[in-house]
Amino acid sequence: VLDLKNMDKIIEINAKDLTVTVEPGVVTKDLQDEVARLRLFYPPEPGSAEFSTIGGNVAECTGGMTGMKYGVTRNYVLALEIVLPDGSIINTGRKTLRSVAGYDLTRFFVGSEGTLGVFTRITLKLLPLPEKIGTITSYFKNIDDALNTTDSILIKSHFLPRSLEFVDKTGIDAVRGFTKEEIPEGVEALLLIDVDGNEKSVVNDISKIEVLCKENKALKTLVAKRMMKERYYGRLEGLFPRPSLGLLQ
Ligand SMILES: Cc1cc2nc3c(=O)[nH]c(=O)nc-3n(C[C@H](O)[C@H](O)[C@H](O)COP(=O)(O)OP(=O)(O)OC[C@H]3O[C@@H](n4cnc5c(N)ncnc54)[C@H](O)[C@@H]3O)c2cc1C
Repeated sequence: VLDLKNMDKIIEINAKDLTVTVEPGVVTKDLQDEVARLRLFYPPEPGSAEFSTIGGNVAECTGGMTGMKYGVTRNYVLALEIVLPDGSIINTGRKTLRSVAGYDLTRFFVGSEGTLGVFTRITLKLLPLPEKIGTITSYFKNIDDALNTTDSILIKSHFLPRSLEFVDKTGIDAVRGFTKEEIPEGVEALLLIDVDGNEKSVVNDISKIEVLCKENKALKTLVAKRMMKERYYGRLEGLFPRPSLGLLQ
């Protein structure tokens, strides 16, 4: 058993090149918070971000809420230092965004689930941090209306939200009574939609998506603050609890 939790240094944030190099034990959310201070963005956002590590994310090629717009961990790994089972150390990839020649060994290792070697140093691509995130919550009488709305947003209107999540009746019943906003009776589907960008584009996108929700028979649509979304997750996580951190440690 290897415990890499002490290999938790952010070695270098290169704001000019939009890259960051870390040790594998850096917690995903800590990295996101640290780069956000420089208005940079590491998009993969697994539900486990508060306790998963970048090493684990690379080994699992973690995706998450932002995957549809921004892709998964694989899309952000530029270079790896890897200790192979025989103890030799190899370096794959380059710290540059345009690294196209030769075999892509980095991709071969991403998602290898710990079977091929141990990542000891990881260089990731960053993006500029979007200025704003807007969230819209829309309630539907049935699943068909909710899915027609996602078709309208993605396929007919060519919108690519930061995230678009569907909650079914079981999830809705779990949050009922927990949110300040009353969930109308008869709601069987819920869409939580995030858009990001600059303030003007977020306001514009949110109002267009609001219209699309209404056109697809939404019973109620709320332009929500991010806080509200977190409250939904808090309740949903109660329904699908995370493993105890104490046990993992
Ligand atoms: C509550 C919860 C929510 C989740 N949400 C999502 C989600 O939204 N999207 C998603 O894609 N996944 C999700 N996951 C699964 C996700 O892939 C893992 O949580 C995360 O990527 C694993 O990171 P970890 O640091 O916990 O790794 P660990 O669990 O410690 O390890 C996972 C695997 O990676 C290997 N590994 C770890 N570090 C290294 C290293 N340095 N070098 C080589 N191999 C290594 C281990 O050997 C093991 O096989 C979730 C998991 C939980 C528990």
